[in-house]
Amino acid sequence: QFPFGRRLPCDIYWHGVSFHDNDIFSGQVNKFPGMTEMVRKITLSRAVRTMQDLFPLEYNFYPRSWILPEEFPLFVDEVRVMKDSDPSWKPTFIVKPDGGCQGDGIYLIKDPSDIRLTGSIQSRPAVVQEYICKPLLVDKLKFDIRLYVLLKSLEPLEIYIAKDGLSRFCTEPYQEPTLKNLHQVFMHLTNYSLNIHSGNFIHSDNANTGSKRTFSSILCRLSSRGADVKKLWSDIISLVIKTIIALTPELKVYYQSDIPAGKPGPTCFQILGFDILLMKNLKPMLLEVNANPSMRIEHEQELSPGVFENVPSPVDEEVKVAVIRDTLRLVDPQKKKR
Ligand code: ADP
Repeated sequence: QFPFGRRLPCDIYWHGVSFHDNDIFSGQVNKFPGMTEMVRKITLSRAVRTMQDLFPLEYNFYPRSWILPEEFPLFVDEVRVMKDSDPSWKPTFIVKPDGGCQGDGIYLIKDPSDIRLTGSIQSRPAVVQEYICKPLLVDKLKFDIRLYVLLKSLEPLEIYIAKDGLSRFCTEPYQEPTLKNLHQVFMHLTNYSLNIHSGNFIHSDNANTGSKRTFSSILCRLSSRGADVKKLWSDIISLVIKTIIALTPELKVYYQSDIPAGKPGPTCFQILGFDILLMKNLKPMLLEVNANPSMRIEHEQELSPGVFENVPSPVDEEVKVAVIRDTLRLVDPQKKKR
């Protein structure tokens, strides 16, 4: 920490939020210029959609999405056409405010006319997306996967994926969406920050139980049920690579503008958090990418009403310490020199 400014150049600069270093001329910075902007819900949806238009089969791991408010008429039209051509199609959609996180402002709808197009949506653009109704369940609960990905270099493109991640569980048994249960966040949204407030949340010191588990424990369960875990991993790897490829052209523009070629500047790397949902048929679907994934290895526990204490979370520690340790090993400047 340099509360009064830096005097000596560093090998590695580790920032909490985003790239903001126009006064660094060497070393490595743990953020890419423009990454925060590129992974916002609207920009990510646009970037993936550009690729979906070019390579529809390769990019079928991202739910069909529309950008609000500008594509609201298109959304209404496309849904009407799809319903006309298949009257048995009874979709659900999820509306997510741009730049939101931790489930903030998210809601489910059955029909485009249910979108809250009043004041707030105008001031707060959003993405509306097809809701994946048939997720894979474990212990009757919906869960998602947080995987940590190191983008070590843009040119040449170098990507590392951590072998373990986190699985974050809902706290109410899952039912397919109906008008009656659409509002039940503990059933439909897997965010830790929401489910922690459910009376059913289980803090776990064991990787195989509780509301937050390691992804490897889920893979073990799936493999013992006969699932093809190798194929699942290879689908996940290809999802990660294709997503980063979709972001690359614009990231290079940001990079060029902040760190022009030929001028002294740092190189960049970044740990990204990929949020992935497994469908019942084990197909991984991308939900979102986080440019600043939480590296906390503690959670808050309410000792008595209103009195909180930070206690270690072994599951977070197991996964996140390894991610940071391996990242530092991979970007080790001594290794580069050798
Ligand atoms: P946030 O940044 O607010 O966490 P997300 O895009 O991650 O927003 O969505 C929050 C949660 O909503 C996800 O963790 C997941 O449980 C659920 N979710 C998001 N998109 C979908 C979808 N298309 N289908 C099913 N569930 C979804």
